Amino acid sequence: MERQSDRIAPDILVVGGGILGLATSCELLSRGYTVSIAERDASNSATRAAGGMLSPWAEFSAPVPWHTLLVQARNAYPEFVRNAEETSGCRVECRFPGTLLVSPNPEFDLSDLTFTFREQGAHATFLDSEDLTRVEPGLAVDSAILLEDEGYVDPRGLHSALRASFEELGGHWIRDEVYAVREVEGRVVGVQTSSGDLSAGVVLNTAGAQADRFLLPEDRARLEPRPVRGELIRLRPPHRGERIRHVIQSPGFAYLIPQDDGTVIVGATSYEGDGTRRLTARGIAELLENSSRLLPDVSDWEWVEAWSGVRPLVGSGEPTVLTDTRLGLFHGLGLYRNGILLAPVIGAQLSRLAAEYIGLPGSPRRPTPGTRAPGRDGPDGTVSSSRTRERT
Ligand SMILES: Cc1cc2nc3c(=O)[nH]c(=O)nc-3n(C[C@H](O)[C@H](O)[C@H](O)COP(=O)(O)OP(=O)(O)OC[C@H]3O[C@@H](n4cnc5c(N)ncnc54)[C@H](O)[C@@H]3O)c2cc1C
Repeated sequence: MERQSDRIAPDILVVGGGILGLATSCELLSRGYTVSIAERDASNSATRAAGGMLSPWAEFSAPVPWHTLLVQARNAYPEFVRNAEETSGCRVECRFPGTLLVSPNPEFDLSDLTFTFREQGAHATFLDSEDLTRVEPGLAVDSAILLEDEGYVDPRGLHSALRASFEELGGHWIRDEVYAVREVEGRVVGVQTSSGDLSAGVVLNTAGAQADRFLLPEDRARLEPRPVRGELIRLRPPHRGERIRHVIQSPGFAYLIPQDDGTVIVGATSYEGDGTRRLTARGIAELLENSSRLLPDVSDWEWVEAWSGVRPLVGSGEPTVLTDTRLGLFHGLGLYRNGILLAPVIGAQLSRLAAEYIGLPGSPRRPTPGTRAPGRDGPDGTVSSSRTRERT
């Protein structure tokens, strides 16, 4: 049991130790800041429930305003994983075998979409049924788009490696629920937790689907944060030779992610407004039905496990970094369906804001109440103030 006297006052206190909190914290620790994470139970995080696709294109047949961020994140991923592996000494499964984008509807013209993806900078190739028999036998569709630069990571393995990196870099993990942010004269001074108060010069809110709890009412009303429950299953093809070679994705319908251990993750259902982690018979039936329409062999695969998690959604799905009007408080919100992919770039934005606010590590300089905090306009023009949110 941790005693109150064990609690040091760090430069930065991070609420939530999912992938965003950990990516941000590791970045700040490596720059020399002292960082604590308050986390109530990371086994319930969206991070440990995710499928792990690293997919900046396949899900977005119409480009979204934050597309550049998705591509930046994809390009940053190999180094992000390598750093976590080197610091922690843990191996993380991360591969880029490409995504096969397919449609259960034969009327849907994938050849046109191939050009759209190419215009967005993707290495995209249209595959007809003959090509498909060669590259991914067993698929019950006539055509596909191969998105060569897409892949997946094992989110649980990555989360464990980031957690070990955090400890290795000198971070302080506090197993506690945060109830509220403490402020004095408009400046944040720490948080209130289930076992007492914690002090810190900066508080970063990376509490995922529960992050809305620390927003001002006007920000909550504007951003409309809401949870989106999702269910996944894991199956095992009976013979190694039957395993799929690519990530297979039919957006809004089903996806399949091959794993090094020979299993395949099948996802994912989506229930907006549901913050529970219920697993329903209907959800599992939908996953089995939809995936076996794409790949009929699925029905004969061995059952391994099922689980669920809650995605954090704000607005119309845009990842959002928010500078609060309470000085020293920053929020990383709405990583929604792509948070595993986006974490390195959103984490870098949050850590830049914290560093600009606090000054150099060990510096006594702090903005006093009433002064304008450095970095309120964002380090690269992408981060919003609490009044004028920009999409990142
Ligand atoms: C079913 C499913 C499939 C997904 N598939 C993919 C995918 O294929 N690719 C992809 O890129 N993304 C995917 N995602 C999305 C991705 O998992 C999330 O966007 C990402 O994990 C969000 O990270 P986070 O750190 O913001 O939140 P989380 O991982 O949820 O972490 C937030 C943490 O804050 C803690 N916390 C909350 N409130 C408090 C409090 N008051 N005090 C202390 N701690 C608190 C929680 O316990 C939690 O550990 C999927 C998500 C789900 C649910």
